[in-house]
This record gives sequence, structure tokens and C-alpha cells, in this order.
Amino acid sequence: MSTRTVEHLFRPSGLQIEPGLPICQTDFPLDWYQEEFKPYAEEYLALPDRTPESVLPWMDRYLEPALKEFGPRLLLLAHYYMGGEIVKLVERYGGRVADSYELALQARGNTQAELIVESAVHFMADAIATLAHPHQQVWITNPRAGCTLEMYAKEHQVAPAVEELRARYGDELMVIAYMNTSGRVKALAGATGGAVCTSGNAQKVLQWALAQKKKVLFVPDQNLAEVVCWWSGVAPELQFQWGGGEAGGQMRIARMGAEERARLDAARVIRWGSSCGVHTIFKPAMVDYWRARGYRVLVHPESPLPVVQVADGSGSTRYLWSAVEAAKPGDKLAIATEGHFVKNARALARSRGAEVVHLADIPDPTYQSIGCGCATMSRNDPPHLVAIVDLLRKGHAPDANRVIAGDVVDETTGARERLSADERAEVVANARRALERMVEITERR
Ligand code: SF4
Repeated sequence: MSTRTVEHLFRPSGLQIEPGLPICQTDFPLDWYQEEFKPYAEEYLALPDRTPESVLPWMDRYLEPALKEFGPRLLLLAHYYMGGEIVKLVERYGGRVADSYELALQARGNTQAELIVESAVHFMADAIATLAHPHQQVWITNPRAGCTLEMYAKEHQVAPAVEELRARYGDELMVIAYMNTSGRVKALAGATGGAVCTSGNAQKVLQWALAQKKKVLFVPDQNLAEVVCWWSGVAPELQFQWGGGEAGGQMRIARMGAEERARLDAARVIRWGSSCGVHTIFKPAMVDYWRARGYRVLVHPESPLPVVQVADGSGSTRYLWSAVEAAKPGDKLAIATEGHFVKNARALARSRGAEVVHLADIPDPTYQSIGCGCATMSRNDPPHLVAIVDLLRKGHAPDANRVIAGDVVDETTGARERLSADERAEVVANARRALERMVEITERR
């Protein structure tokens, strides 16, 4: 992987912690925390309020000694979708905020970092661990933070579908795995000669596959697959909708009728049937509403295709954030993506004299619509960050928070199922191949 790949990724988000700003949107009950984290949660819940004035001195008490002891060996990371102001807190303590593509490359690009602590969801930590060097350990602040897209495309669901399709189409079948998949599903992509993709490079990756005359199984987001097909000129009759979740794993070609089988045979892209609840709420009428009021509408491509088709622009988290960073005084943007991201974008835009609204936050009762944040990402809060860093310093961090590539995590209990060393070596090699292919395709001039 070229060094240029990682060097150009590091840049501050531009977010500021303002005095009086409410830090956390939810107080979880004490029994919601892992046993080892409860003493920290208890102290946090006893603070008089959730403003920087009370939360930061409490966090400093734990994080500053750890930062001093570990120095550059500790790297804190967060995704832009994190709620509860975690993104700002992570940057305050010298960490980095990024989208999923940038996050995946952080271990590779920061060889000094031996302990990487990620405040986001499991698939992102898994991707960092897959690309990590042997001397690096990856930890997640909350092992129960999963992604719904990934939850409906587990390896035990996707692998039988791949087997079914490979039996019919042989090597012509290639899997493209969106970043929002486990390491084991990324390994399925690698094993079929395929690649990982993100919303920012999915079009390039799909075109690379189609140029090789491959028949693509695109996992897991059906909306993104449809949008990328539209961007790439793949006609609807050349797409086939596969099932999602358990239904996807149980679909059998032999049980299809002749007409359905013919459509599958004709398809160039087979869409796995999962979607993200945060992005499927958007409707074309919301675009009309804000545009009529002078707003430029920008949407994330996990949104339904009809919304992407009528928006003024669409693209990845990085694309949306860059648009806010480039906003001029008086600019008005309506953004369709995750709610915490839009909240942070609104604060950044305000500091530039611009205005940002969430596309679904329509102050008209006839629309009955309100934007939402990613509930699973929000399972990370200040006590999680403080506890894991302090416990790492004391040498007592719970094994459930250690992310080893190829782990399967139960999002309800946080329990992990780990592969044997031999199984892991194979999964990591294939998943790495798929990730590295993505980087190669993305960085190609
Ligand atoms: S916003 Fe949707 S796709 Fe993104 S992490 Fe949350 S559930 Fe997954």
C-alpha cells in the first residue's frame, strides 16, 4: 500500500467544543455497562450535568495520565456518526475523526500506534485490525456497537448464497463487499477475486469488476447497490434483488421459477437485501420541500435511489463533510444522512455563517418526519472511552473489547466468537486482499 494513501487522510474535522454544550444525548442505566465499566459510569452519572465544564475535568483525570504514559503509542479514533459529542472529545485528546475508508487505513499509516482505541461500530474496528501490523492491538470502546447493515449480512447468511451462485456461475461470480461488513464477509470477497468498497469508491470498484466481465454479488446494501448501478449505467433489467438476512442465506436457485431464474442469469449485479434504517427514511418530497426554500440538497448514497436521483449532489461521508467545510456565508444546505453527523455539520456551518438542516427535519406536521441518528454508534459514550483507556493503562482491559480480525460479535451480549489461528490466517489474508484491492482501485490515477 502506498504511503500517499494514508498521508493525505489526516486532517482535523474543524469541530469545536463550545462552552455549555450538552455532551451526551442519552444517559444509559448503570446495568447497561460492562461490569468493569460500571465504576466509571457511576461517577459519570453522578456529575451535576453534561456540559464540558463538568465532563471534561472528569475525563481529564483519567485520560491525561494515559496520554502521558502511552504517548504516540496510543491512537484514539472515532467515526463522524458518533453521537454524544464523542468526535469532539476524541479530537480533544489528540485522536482522529474519519469516515470508514480513512479509519480502515489508520493502523497501517500510524506504525507508532500500538494501542488503537476505536469509538464507533464493530465492522470499522475489524477493518482496522485486518490491516494492522503484528505489533498493533485494536480495542473498541463498546463491543455491542454494531451496524444494522452488517447484522443482516452475517457470514453464515452470505456464504451459502455465494456457494449457490458460484455453483451456477463459477469464477464469473465476484463478491463486492461494502465496508459495512464483517471481516469474514470481506474475506468472501477476497476469495472470489473481489474487493471491498465504500460509498466514496463504490462506482470505481463496480466498474473495475464489470470491466472484467464479472457477475457481481454486491453485499449488503441494496440501496447503495442500486445507486451505484445507476451511476454506472447498469440498467434495472440487469440487476437482480437477492434476499437479505436469514432469507438471503436460504434462497436456492433450484426453487426459483423459470422467469426468476432467467432474470438472475441475465443480471450483471445481484443486490443483497439489507439496508440502513437511518438512511431509508428519506423521500423525494423532502428534497422538493427544502429546495423550494433555497437549500442545496446533498444526500448519502445509502438513501433510496429516487432521492439520490432528484438531489443536487450525492456522495460519501467525506464528500458531505467537505461540502460543509467549503460552505460560504449565506449558503444553505439540506443534508440526508445520519443525525449526529448533521448536528455536527450544523455547528461547523454556523461557525462559517452558513446553514445546515437535516433533510428529514421538516417543520410541517403534514410530513410527519424527523431525522434520526445511528443508535448503535451512540452506544459509545464518555464512560466507555474513559474506562477502556484507563483499564488499558492499568493492564485490566476486558478481552471482550479486544478486536481481533475475523471475530464474530453478538451485538446483544457483546460476546465474541474467535477463529483458531489457522482459520484466522486464511480469513485475514482474504479480507486483506479485498481491502488492498479497494485501495489500489481507489488510488489509481
Ligand atoms: S448509520 Fe446505518 S450504515 Fe451507518 S453504522 Fe449506523 S446502522 Fe450502519
